[in-house]
Amino acid sequence: MSAQVDSVASPLDMARAAYRGISLYAPDRSPCAIDLSDNTNLFGVPPVALSVLRRAEEATISRYPSLYAPALKEALAAYREVDPSQVVTGCGSDDVLDSAVRAFAEPGDLVAHPAPSFAMIPLFARMNGLRSIGVPLRPNYDIDADALLATGARIIYICSPNNPTGTCASDVSIRRVLDEAKGIVILDEAYAEFSGRNCLADVAGHERLLVVRTLSKAFGLAGLRIGYATGRAALVSEVEKSRGPYKVNALAESAGVAALTEDREWVARHVATAVRNRESFAIALRALGLFAIPSSANFLLVPIRDAQKIAAHLRRAGVAVRPMTGLPLVGDALRISIGPWPMMERALVALRAAIQ
Ligand code: PMP
Repeated sequence: MSAQVDSVASPLDMARAAYRGISLYAPDRSPCAIDLSDNTNLFGVPPVALSVLRRAEEATISRYPSLYAPALKEALAAYREVDPSQVVTGCGSDDVLDSAVRAFAEPGDLVAHPAPSFAMIPLFARMNGLRSIGVPLRPNYDIDADALLATGARIIYICSPNNPTGTCASDVSIRRVLDEAKGIVILDEAYAEFSGRNCLADVAGHERLLVVRTLSKAFGLAGLRIGYATGRAALVSEVEKSRGPYKVNALAESAGVAALTEDREWVARHVATAVRNRESFAIALRALGLFAIPSSANFLLVPIRDAQKIAAHLRRAGVAVRPMTGLPLVGDALRISIGPWPMMERALVALRAAIQ
């Protein structure tokens, strides 16, 4: 028996070549009193969604969920004012992005993305046998539309507001990429609710555009893993094929529907508080001599020397933030999620001590 285990203990020769250099996504997720590291909703869970989860019937757990989450699609379609045929769901927007990359590119094709941007994109490309190229943001943090187009990539990924900078791509640049891209354009709007901006109405139905969003951030349901994309019906159905059936579990589907139909006021109220706290936190940081990049999301990116060391110091003081090193355009920085003000005050106290 142990010989059998030993024979698989060295997986490298058996794994696909593209997987050999990939390591597991492993940010420090050890428990911390105040966790400002993952940009989730720190105000809690939408109340109606929570009561739906608490009242779950046994059959919801013992039976398979729906194949492609039609009730969730319907609620999302109403929220985004599109037809249900223009919505695809997934196990988090990670799953939707991964499925989209697989659906629209052949092995060996190129995925272009801004740099810095969402760190999973190059990984999803690699996991699907694709190549990726990072195109530095412009000094004003807009995407470099010309340089993205010049890559000739089969898929151009844009994140707006962008993780980790919190900045938005300009309308002009997004339009230009859409007008001239050779393949599919993925617009990741995971943090759109905090920006007060929507994907431009006039391009929302563009034949090459897939807009990806999530219920993990403003909607406070990260643990349930619900992501989705909107776009032309022909486009989203290709993503759905690549995604496969049963990806949204039954509990997630019913809580997601409740949040979208009955918790919108809760979501809007906490988004407004997060935005207010973000601005107050940025002002308080200035008093410490720290200057955050102006953000349209529920986090701030704060350029700082020795980010790793400072983050370790903060963690010891019970505050988790995400350190980033050597980011194009930015250098070292801390990405700090915004939550209720008492949490932000704790973060300020810990920061003051850490930078002394
Ligand atoms: N896109 C962006 C820009 C993100 O920051 C994240 C979460 N870190 C995701 C997608 C994935 O979120 P989820 O899978 O929880 O929907």
